[in-house]
Amino acid sequence: MALTITDRCINCDLCEPECPNQAIALGDEIYEIDPARCTECVGHYEVPQCRAVCPVDCIPLHPEFVESHAELYKKYLALTGTGP
Ligand code: SF4
Ligand code: SF4
Repeated sequence: MALTITDRCINCDLCEPECPNQAIALGDEIYEIDPARCTECVGHYEVPQCRAVCPVDCIPLHPEFVESHAELYKKYLALTGTGP
């Protein structure tokens, strides 16, 4: 599952540089996660790095992008160009 940023975001800028997939960018009002690039950090880290640094805990799972660990790993391989 990709993660998503809620409107509780305070634009603190901490998460964007931590994302290994460049999935986070500043949107019109708050930071946003591109679900096509978010692997929940699978392939890179044990836990989602954005969540680990967010001071207001506003990064839940995205309910519309349900993916298994295997699917997230395939996405990681595709994003990094290390797939078959
Ligand atoms: Fe980026 Fe990982 Fe957060 Fe997804 S969970 S947005 S890949 S830091
Ligand atoms: Fe928003 Fe949390 Fe990212 Fe800070 S770390 S910009 S509060 S989502």
